[in-house]
Amino acid sequence: MSTHPKIAWIGLGIMGSPMSENLLKAGYEVTGFTLEQDKLDRLAAAGGTVASSIAEAVKDAGVVITMVPASPQVEAIAYGPDGILENARPGALLIDMSSITPQTSVDLGKAGAQRGIRVLDAPVSGGEAGAIEAVLSIMVGGERPDFDSARPILEALGRTIVLCGPHGSGQTVKAANQLIVAVNIQACAEAVVFLEKSGVDLAAALDVLNGGLAGSTVLTRKKDNFLNRDFKPGFRIELHHKDMGIVTDAARNVGAALPVGAVVAQLVASLRAQGDGGLDHSALLRSVERLSGRQV
Ligand code: NAD
Repeated sequence: MSTHPKIAWIGLGIMGSPMSENLLKAGYEVTGFTLEQDKLDRLAAAGGTVASSIAEAVKDAGVVITMVPASPQVEAIAYGPDGILENARPGALLIDMSSITPQTSVDLGKAGAQRGIRVLDAPVSGGEAGAIEAVLSIMVGGERPDFDSARPILEALGRTIVLCGPHGSGQTVKAANQLIVAVNIQACAEAVVFLEKSGVDLAAALDVLNGGLAGSTVLTRKKDNFLNRDFKPGFRIELHHKDMGIVTDAARNVGAALPVGAVVAQLVASLRAQGDGGLDHSALLRSVERLSGRQV
């Protein structure tokens, strides 16, 4: 008989679908709920069970995992009579893997404790490819015993799994992650336009750059997006805009200056305002192209 806890998965988007499928492959029973019918069909085809509401999904679960866009959606699915806290079993473990404000995670941890629900914040880095390949980096906030009981599940989803501190700490580390990624993409995009305008073979240039100190996971994962102008998400500009808001706000609260991050946050906001919010964040290249006099 399986000793695996039953899993409820709420939010089967670009990340949640492949992540929940990795739990099915690892032998977990997964019951899912999300807003799009095609995503529910996908879960069923992979061997999961489809629920018609959050309450139905979570009622028998030992572990509830959430992967939705932002703080308002986490609050919508967690609280209220139809939410997770009201309908999950006392003693259940809620692992929120969405990228949200640290304060929302702190509040959720407190609200969970009042209902006997243990809570971890466990946002991830590694993108859609990392989710599919189960090699995500998972930054966790919460209590050590809860982290220890979540660990086997998280090991089916990622490779680098670290408890960063109390509730909200995982989100703070994720905010720093998003700062580094956005600045890195922006630097790569500026290099791409500079190299092309200089008449250098771009593919060759990016290959050799990636072998040296300028190399990065961003360059490895996004090189083809830059070369082919393929901006299908991936990670949507819309979500990175949300994350740049989280990191600039959190940094201001603790008195940390982010001068370069603030500029890149403005460039992300500008791209969104120009109608590119649904594109992959590698589309920061379009903004550099426009600034450099190209019609894109
Ligand atoms: P997505 O928009 O593709 O998926 C979000 C899912 O949440 C959708 O399927 C939607 O149906 C579901 N949802 C929203 N409100 C709901 C509700 N009230 N009830 C049930 N389901 C609801 O987003 P994504 O790209 O999978 O990102 C999810 C989270 O992961 C975000 O916080 C994002 O910042 C983070 N993240 C994304 C990536 C990436 O590369 N896409 C990488 C790391 C972290």
